[in-house]
Amino acid sequence: MRLDVVIPVYNEQDNLPQLCDRLAAACSQVAEASWRIIFVNDGSTDRSAALIHDRYQQDPRFTLVDLSRNWGHQAAISAGLAQVDADAVIVMDGDLQDPPELIPELVQAWRQGGQIVLALRRSRQERGLRRVGLDLFHRFFRYISDYPIPANAGIFGLLDRAAVAELSALPERHRFIPGLRAWIGFEQRTVLYDRGVRAAGEPKVGFRHLVRLALDGTFSFSYKPLRLMTWAGIFISLAGFATACYFILKRLTGEEHAFMGFTTLVTLVLFLGGIQLIAIGLLGEYLGRIYDEVKGRPLYIVKSRTGL
Ligand code: UDP
Ligand code: MG
Repeated sequence: MRLDVVIPVYNEQDNLPQLCDRLAAACSQVAEASWRIIFVNDGSTDRSAALIHDRYQQDPRFTLVDLSRNWGHQAAISAGLAQVDADAVIVMDGDLQDPPELIPELVQAWRQGGQIVLALRRSRQERGLRRVGLDLFHRFFRYISDYPIPANAGIFGLLDRAAVAELSALPERHRFIPGLRAWIGFEQRTVLYDRGVRAAGEPKVGFRHLVRLALDGTFSFSYKPLRLMTWAGIFISLAGFATACYFILKRLTGEEHAFMGFTTLVTLVLFLGGIQLIAIGLLGEYLGRIYDEVKGRPLYIVKSRTGL
């Protein structure tokens, strides 16, 4: 069998030596497999690309796709997936949060019939705002999406040839790969692991990017926000109608000055203005994404390839 491992890399020079060693050890443990590592250099500004080149000189199984700039985690993974030609493909992060030692187990699950094998976190080390945000998003995503992803699944996992082909054929630009992976279906299996902290350096996906990814996930997989606005509109209109009836009745029965007041008016105007702006903003989120799709720009641009 042939095994490809796709790894996005953005300024991971401190992790790469250890990562390569552990990958080689783990992949050699997979029986009867010829393996290849496909690093995707996502516009690193450190020595990451040079380190991978050096490694390639020693061992041509460590290959490299060099992107023209930083295109982001999801785009980098897509760039790697476009290069694969294997029976099974592992996708994992390059910061050693996804332990290479799990690869034999993932392949085992694939051999037992799983076309997509998800590595599920038994535990997670992130703390603070990042942790709260991740937990909230996963809960929210399960509510809004018709194709829920397990709360403890990330990008780490295995895809077989058919699944990779389907995933790569999807043309959409704002990619939320865990969601797409759930959407394409296929026979899915899971394997448990403990997710550690990143071995060296700061997280490369900043908090702002995580928020953007959460928005992509939401708007690519759900119309519920739009529907929510429709319901809000219906509710407020009905409430308005009821209030109007009430005041007309008061007027007709001769109570001139029922609830006169500046405060009431200001509150209502601000409240309704706010709701309307939110609704327009939501429309804009969808519209902007449509615009991006229509422009049809590529998802990423490859500068060079080494060993591919
Ligand atoms: N990464 C990337 N491009 C980016 C940001 C990150 O290719 O713009 C890579 C990074 O080098 C790492 C993986 O994506 O291998 C996950 O990044 P990180 O550890 O920062 O994300 P987290 O674990 O916090 O989700
Ligand atoms: Mg990480």
